[in-house]
Amino acid sequence: MWPLLLLWDMGLSGIIIEVILGLIGLDFLFRLWRRKVYYVKVYDFSKGHSWCSISDTEQAVHCSVCEHVLLGGGLRCDSCGVCADERCMHKADKRLKCKQVSVDSISMKHQWVKGNLPPESICHVCEEECGNERHFSDFRCCWCQWTVHEKCLPNLADLCNLGVYRNFIIPPNCITLRRSPRGRLRSQCLVASIKEPQWGPQWKPLIVIGNGKSGSNEACHLLSSARKVLNAVQAIDLSDQEPKIALQLCALLKETQCRLLIAGGDGTIAWVLNAVQNLDVKHLPETAVLPLGTGNDLSRALGWGPHIEGAVDFHGILKKIEASSSALLDRWLADIRPSRHLGIRFPGRSVRFNNYFSVGVDARVALNFHLTRQSPMYLFSHRLFNKLIYFTYGTKDVVEQSCEGLENQIELIIDKKPIELPSVQALVFLNVDSWGAGIKPWNMGQEGVFMPKCLYGDGIMEVIGVSSSFHIAQMQVGLSEPLRIGRGKSFRLRIFGKQPVQADGEPWEQGPSEIIIENCGQVPVLTVEPNRSSQ
Ligand SMILES: [Zn+2]
Ligand SMILES: [Zn+2]
Ligand SMILES: [Zn+2]
Ligand SMILES: [Zn+2]
Repeated sequence: MWPLLLLWDMGLSGIIIEVILGLIGLDFLFRLWRRKVYYVKVYDFSKGHSWCSISDTEQAVHCSVCEHVLLGGGLRCDSCGVCADERCMHKADKRLKCKQVSVDSISMKHQWVKGNLPPESICHVCEEECGNERHFSDFRCCWCQWTVHEKCLPNLADLCNLGVYRNFIIPPNCITLRRSPRGRLRSQCLVASIKEPQWGPQWKPLIVIGNGKSGSNEACHLLSSARKVLNAVQAIDLSDQEPKIALQLCALLKETQCRLLIAGGDGTIAWVLNAVQNLDVKHLPETAVLPLGTGNDLSRALGWGPHIEGAVDFHGILKKIEASSSALLDRWLADIRPSRHLGIRFPGRSVRFNNYFSVGVDARVALNFHLTRQSPMYLFSHRLFNKLIYFTYGTKDVVEQSCEGLENQIELIIDKKPIELPSVQALVFLNVDSWGAGIKPWNMGQEGVFMPKCLYGDGIMEVIGVSSSFHIAQMQVGLSEPLRIGRGKSFRLRIFGKQPVQADGEPWEQGPSEIIIENCGQVPVLTVEPNRSSQ
């Protein structure tokens, strides 16, 4: 009997173990299936050029195939610079090789493109002017951007050092591609790996991120310039790639710290910085900002200026990045816990931000503006028009006074100390020393007075009060100072009724709740001013 029982017992435990193992296996497979993998897709340049229409040139442009002058339009490859009329476009795709994202060789050689040299080009060999626009002559290397006479070309060595911007460029011989064999990504070119070039520690490749379909030409122009100077894989268009996919490049770079140039407003930057903070890499990338759109408080605080308009000087930007210094930017987390309603607690949520968080009248203006923009009546995206709407809503609020008596509808605790609030219509928690499109509220009117500064990397936020939307307007022209409420490391804000709130310009209506705001780490940024977080 005993041996039988033992056998039965062993059999049963065997089955149980098998079932458990099976479940673990299933769970593992399920997790593997659930894990989303992001790929860096690459435009396949062996299929042809990336054509853009030529519109803004005063120079005569020659077709790279038939060599005739292009009259009334024509196309230019924004990566290698080959030009063609519409009749020759397909011939150019077949005959003239484009700038390759990846090459299969150990050494890096020049890739010469004939004709259409930039104005006032100088020959790298004889140092005389080259590239006469009346003739289709002379050459430019689409990697190092050297220009050279046809007759001087034999005197130049084959090897290309990628020119003055080499520390920004991912050399094509360091990239390995693979083709996706199955599924949705079929026949897509993907980046498989990136290795570091031999020239060492100064190499910090630049990844340019912008929305090519954002309405303004600047982002499109910037991405085009980036493709021309850098490897095309380094220009990420958010209109067809998620920031997560873009940042996969940083993950592929493993040990190397890269630099990001984000073209856009505070919203785009906050979106990318969220993705940056989630990256699992040794060194988080350093972020530089090219301010587009309205607001741009982070750009102002980091010294990248209020707004770029018109043609983008990409070479100037690269020089500015080279001269910039690295700093750390605090990121904050607002943990929103809704109050119980009829015994039910609704699920909370958390929001990360790095510029400011506010409750009250300024959020009301932003919310009204946001709702207008979502309405079908909103047809224009021009900055001036946006400002007009903003102004209208600002004044509408002066009349309605919708946030009057806010101090009685909220409670604030800074670093565990309850704060006695004065009469306010808004409270603003500031991480950077710029708010409301350029106001520097914290130190306003305090010149010569000793007081702690509002720094973006000190783990402390400053809280100011605003008495009305008219008060904001007065601060904008320097006629009034904010009410300085306090500064600290952790904040507890209780909202009793419904109040408009916003985090980094993203507004919403918040019901009764408790909001805990605490530091949630830092991200590296590039700043044009000296490192202010260490002052
Ligand atoms: Zn032609
Ligand atoms: Zn091309
Ligand atoms: Zn070259
Ligand atoms: Zn020459």
